[in-house]
Amino acid sequence: MTTTATDALTQALVRMAEAGDRPRCGEPGAHELWLSEDTEDRAQAARWCAGCSVLAECAAAAGELKASFGVWAGRDYGERASRRTVAEQ
Ligand code: SF4
Repeated sequence: MTTTATDALTQALVRMAEAGDRPRCGEPGAHELWLSEDTEDRAQAARWCAGCSVLAECAAAAGELKASFGVWAGRDYGERASRRTVAEQ
């Protein structure tokens, strides 16, 4: 059976949870920055990805899923398309 990058990220997150830890994007009160409409919020989220123990798995999953919005592994993929104005699309 082939393990996908997304499966590998899920497994890494489960291991973190079993150890009583979680990535910063999963912290209550902070996680909304990763999907914010505000560019500065997403820039802050991207900085907070630095040092994440699952950063490599997150980056691989973002590539596999062809991430098109939000912050993944310190990279800002932009705002969710449904939130953009018609003029921006
Ligand atoms: S690297 Fe991925 S899992 Fe870690 S904080 Fe950033 S977005 Fe979250």
